[in-house]
Amino acid sequence: MWVLGIDTSCDDTGVGLVRDGEVVVNLVASQVRLHEAFGGVVPELASREHLKALPLLVERALAEAGLRPKDLDLVAATRGPGLIGALLVGYTFAKGMAFALERPFYAIHHLEGHIAAAWPEGLTPPFLALVASGGHTHLYEVLDLGRYRLLGATRDDAAGEAFDKVARLLGLGFPGGPEVERLAEEAEEAIPFPVPLRGQEGYDFSFSGLKTKALHLVEKGLPKAALAKGFQEAAIAHLAEVVLKAAKDTGHRVLLVAGGVAANRALQERFKEAGLKVYFPPKGLSQDNGAMIALAAWRRYKGGFPPSPLSLGATAYWPLEEA
Ligand code: ATP
Ligand code: FE
Repeated sequence: MWVLGIDTSCDDTGVGLVRDGEVVVNLVASQVRLHEAFGGVVPELASREHLKALPLLVERALAEAGLRPKDLDLVAATRGPGLIGALLVGYTFAKGMAFALERPFYAIHHLEGHIAAAWPEGLTPPFLALVASGGHTHLYEVLDLGRYRLLGATRDDAAGEAFDKVARLLGLGFPGGPEVERLAEEAEEAIPFPVPLRGQEGYDFSFSGLKTKALHLVEKGLPKAALAKGFQEAAIAHLAEVVLKAAKDTGHRVLLVAGGVAANRALQERFKEAGLKVYFPPKGLSQDNGAMIALAAWRRYKGGFPPSPLSLGATAYWPLEEA
C-alpha cells in the first residue's frame, strides 16, 4: 500500500512516499536561501515557492519510486498548524490529487507527523512524546493514536528557536541548531549557563533566559565555541530534567523525542543515558518532511480512522489534543 504525504506548513516543501509503513522516498525543497535576505520567513513568498516546487517534487518522488499517480492508495497532507497560505498550497494540492484519483484523503496534524517519524513499528502507547522544533517545545502523553494529553510546553521561545537565535548572536548561519552543535564540538570547556525552571511544580519549558545570557556573554567577548557548548548543555539539561520528572511522576518508561532538535547528537546521548526506552526519528526525518505525514496517515488508516472529508479546510491554529 502506497501513501503520498505532503507538508508545506512553513518554509520547506516536503513530499514523501511510504510503502506499508516504510519510507521509500523523502524529498525536501528548502527555501532557506530565499528567506535569508529578509531575516525570517516571508509568508507570501513561502506560498509562492511551494506552488512552484510542489508539482515538480511530486513528479520526481513518483519517478524515483517508479510509480504512476494511479498506483497511490492514499493521499495525505498537513492540515495545520502553520502558515495558512503555505499550508493551503500542499493541502489543496493533495485534496485535488485524492479527488482526481478517487483515493482516500487524510488531513494530518503537523505534530502528529513529527511524532509518527519517531514512532517505531510495533510500539504501542501509552508513552511520552517530546516535540522540540522551531515552533514547539511540547511534552505530551500519547494515550493512543489521536489521543494526546499536553503535560507542558514552553513559556517563551521554542527550543529550536533558541538555537536559531543564539546562532545568530554568534554570527552563524540558519538554521542555527546544526551550526551551534558543530561549534560546540570544537570547545574543550563549556561556559556554564544556569538550567532554567529548576524546582518548578509542572512540566514547563523556558529558553529565553538562556538566549539573554548568551547575549551578555557575546557582548563580553567570551569565546564563541565555549559559549555555544555551555548554551547547548543547559538547553539539553533543561529538556532532559523536565521530561525525566514527567516520566517519574506519570510512571511512563518509554519516550519519543521528535522535531528538528531531536537531530542533535549531544541531546540524543543525554536521553539515551536517562534510563528510559527512548526513540528518535531516523536521519532525515526529524526536520519537516512529507514522509512523516505519510507515516501518520498510514497509522491512521491502519488504526481504522475514517478518511477526512474533502470539505475540511486547512487551519493555522490547531492544538494536537483536538486532532
Ligand atoms: P514546528 O514543527 O514547530 O512548526 P518547524 O517545522 O520549523 O517548527 P522543524 O523543521 O521540526 O521545525 O525543526 C527546525 C528546528 O530544529 C530549527 O529551529 C533548527 O535550528 C532546529 N535544529 C535542527 N537541527 C538541530 C540540531 N542538530 N541541534 C539543535 N537544533 C536543531
Ligand atoms: Fe515541524
